[in-house]
Amino acid sequence: MVKTIAIDGPSASGKSSVSKGVAAELGFTYVDSGALYRGVTWQAIRKGIDTTDADAVLNMMHDAEWDFFVQEGASIFSIDGDVPVQELREKAVRESVANVASIPEVRKFVVESLQSLANFGSLVMEGRDIGMVVFPDSPYKFYLDADPEERAKRRYRELVDAGESEKAEEVMESLKKRDKIDSTRKADPLVVPLGAQVIDSTSMTLEEVVQTVVDAVKG
Ligand code: C5P
Repeated sequence: MVKTIAIDGPSASGKSSVSKGVAAELGFTYVDSGALYRGVTWQAIRKGIDTTDADAVLNMMHDAEWDFFVQEGASIFSIDGDVPVQELREKAVRESVANVASIPEVRKFVVESLQSLANFGSLVMEGRDIGMVVFPDSPYKFYLDADPEERAKRRYRELVDAGESEKAEEVMESLKKRDKIDSTRKADPLVVPLGAQVIDSTSMTLEEVVQTVVDAVKG
């Protein structure tokens, strides 16, 4: 039977590392749902579309050709034949994605695409609305959280490792701004999904969090 594990939480709560770890441990396919919102945003930017113009974003999104496939245990996608990976992490994308993700029809397109990935088999999907909207009937729902300072520190380290020269205070500000848009938007705001197990990872190691999820799924 296909299992879908939903891992939600705010930015830099450790969702990606934990989801990848759980997927590897269980042999499931890892899905980064945020990448798809970033993909829509990246495509709009490279087409020169104003990301605050919802109609233009929707036309572009429907015109583009999207393909989904699994590579090395993770689901990836192409847009008009290109597979963006590093591009999705660019600053311009990061700064506009929360607004693009607040367009209800963008969410509908992404949610339906994510649901169709269950055809690939069992999944570990990380995001903001997976347990509430994408797979509300899944018995395996988790909500990861950590103190904002800890999350800002983690994101800052990630950016520095990726070679970006960001200031720590700016990372904190940008994280707060994104948290606010994500948790107050009208369409599917970030909330703890009904029936989710909440894990505060502030003082836990990555291995401890992965094991907590794996144990809960196996148990
Ligand atoms: O997880 P990541 O930081 O890549 O997500 C980028 C943005 O995509 C989030 O800030 C949020 O606005 C949006 N998102 C969402 N629902 C999801 C995943 C991401 O709204 N399930």
